[in-house]
Amino acid sequence: MTTTDTHCPYCALQCGMGLRRPPPGAGPGVPPVEVVERPGFPVNRGALCGKGRTAAAVLDPAVRLTAPLVRDPATGTLVRASWDEALSRVAAGLEETATRYGPEATGVFGGGGLTNEKAYLLGKFARVVLRTPHIDYNGRFCMSSAAAAHRAAFGIDRGLPFPVEDIATAGCVILVGANPAETMPPLLRYFTELRRNGGHLIVVDPRRTRTAERADTHLRPVPGTDLALALGLLHLAVADGHLDEEFIADRTTGFEQARAAAMAHWPERVEQLTGVPVPLMREAVRRFADAPTAMVLTARGAEQHSKGTDTVGAWINLCLATGKAGRPGSGYGCLTGQGNGQGGREHGQKADQLPGYRSLTDPAARAHVAKVWGVDPGTLPGPGVSAYELLDRLGTPGGVKALLVAGSNPMVSAPRAAHVTERLAALDFLAVSDVVLSETAALADVVLPVAQWAEETGTTTNLEGRVILRRAAVTPPDGVRTDLDVLHGLAARLGVPRGFPTDPQEVFEELRRASAGGPADYAGISYPRIRAEDGVFWPCPHPTHPGTPRLFLDRFATPDGRARFAAVSHRPAAEEPDAHYPLHLTTGRVTAQYQSGAQTRRVPELNAAAPGPFVELHPRLATRLGVTEGQLLAVTSRRGRALAPARITDAIRPDTVFMPFHWPGAGRANTLTNPALDPVSKMPEFKVCAVRLEKAATG
Ligand code: SF4
Repeated sequence: MTTTDTHCPYCALQCGMGLRRPPPGAGPGVPPVEVVERPGFPVNRGALCGKGRTAAAVLDPAVRLTAPLVRDPATGTLVRASWDEALSRVAAGLEETATRYGPEATGVFGGGGLTNEKAYLLGKFARVVLRTPHIDYNGRFCMSSAAAAHRAAFGIDRGLPFPVEDIATAGCVILVGANPAETMPPLLRYFTELRRNGGHLIVVDPRRTRTAERADTHLRPVPGTDLALALGLLHLAVADGHLDEEFIADRTTGFEQARAAAMAHWPERVEQLTGVPVPLMREAVRRFADAPTAMVLTARGAEQHSKGTDTVGAWINLCLATGKAGRPGSGYGCLTGQGNGQGGREHGQKADQLPGYRSLTDPAARAHVAKVWGVDPGTLPGPGVSAYELLDRLGTPGGVKALLVAGSNPMVSAPRAAHVTERLAALDFLAVSDVVLSETAALADVVLPVAQWAEETGTTTNLEGRVILRRAAVTPPDGVRTDLDVLHGLAARLGVPRGFPTDPQEVFEELRRASAGGPADYAGISYPRIRAEDGVFWPCPHPTHPGTPRLFLDRFATPDGRARFAAVSHRPAAEEPDAHYPLHLTTGRVTAQYQSGAQTRRVPELNAAAPGPFVELHPRLATRLGVTEGQLLAVTSRRGRALAPARITDAIRPDTVFMPFHWPGAGRANTLTNPALDPVSKMPEFKVCAVRLEKAATG
């Protein structure tokens, strides 16, 4: 048996695992590869969730694409084609559109699951080959509000500015809109250790989730009121004398404005808005401030709002005001969701950023990256529009008309998904590279089947900023190519024969140079070093630098070294319940499915555990509507209607219903969600909108 050390293909924890191959000639019935524990990797210490344990199932040729597909103009169906024909058709589709409407009519939509090398080369492809500003990715829907607030407060954005092991040493942790018991089960051990060490866990969530059940304190705000709650807590921190005046004076700026904004939010008014009683708020603040070390960790529940950036800013304010940042065991962090959500946003597939987290509008940054790419900085396009804006304008005058989608399934994962589906269908040309025939791929003119995690080598950067190496353990099936091969082939056909290597290590070496000196500096990280150290934390500016597991201990990454308070005020959700749509809808995840479910819905064990969507509602609401367990319900918002069976539970508020978003078709939760955007991060408001609930007519 040969075992290859690698990492899970799914979430941002990037758990270490081994892939074991049987000896040659092992005989029929022996799987080509199986997932085994790798206890030596520090993040998960051998533990894996069901998704990780079953990850090898998607390598099965029976469930994935093994040949390029092109749409037959005569029948309108997708038919098998050669790679040469498929790549030539993609190149022609992009080129014809650029010739007819200009390069800005071409676009790229990437994914937070792509390796650093792919994300880097995809950004270069858009800007150097297509010369379009229009590249963004599904990570915009994931952690962009946290990233924006993190950058505003601390100068740079890294999901967690400390390793996950620090969670266990904190005296108090406030988890806001985070449900790791469902999304990252191996992370739970750190919260268990925290409590065993005498620490206090506070969970802020409208639902009594499996994570909330493990908390010492559960605050259950009305959906869309996290910002008000954070302001109320800061108000109480001031009123009850919990400020760390020395820290505020020595290491921060802007406190007076933030304090004034918070003091306008009286706790009694905050209680009215959030439903969280003042004594509970007061106790939470006391626990947090009195703990010698403490953290606030947010996830999508706090971030996926039209005020997500301000909401995260308000929670960071609480950390700063109480001196719980920039010290070992303390700080603010974001539990990033997608496998390479962190690295995917560092290397240039975001509409406004160049590799190394450099700004696309900074002349020095443009000059540096242009030099690495061997192009004139003047030829680099400026910033494009954000993910939803890009999708919303597809096929319209002035919008993108030919789109390349890589590793993303916006037909299921984007808000107002029926509209997004219409826009995708309105394109002159759509190409999708993916592992499986996702719902978006099924709509394409050309589908490019690509290799996946266990079949190719490449780096990802997990939620801690730890750069790790996924290693190839098996050979991809015949008929499959890597994303790097695809970009190389397309670039060559579009007149750029050089600069798109197919060897991931060669791409990484270029990425190191492009990131050197930038906020996310990878210059000192190399494949041999990652192999030797099992991961290196950025920033790591030179080969003898130890890497940076803990940021901000001496100074924050702002020009003056001080963290910046955000002066923010409560505002309501973009859509509040009314007479026509009287309930809040909030959406989220279940353990056995991942994101749009394109991969996990193809794994029998996961499908058996979570076979389809459901609507979670409170028993009182069920009684009022005469709904019984399992009855088919119609959930209607201003965007459309979704059907799913009832799941009655008192874990949800009576004024709120919940749907997971992993499925397409009639039960697609994102048919309902509101694309109202955060003005800074351009994050859509996935986490709250107004809906009506009815029994669906059957038969
Ligand atoms: Fe994979 Fe995330 Fe599960 Fe770990 S927690 S096994 S990284 S899906």
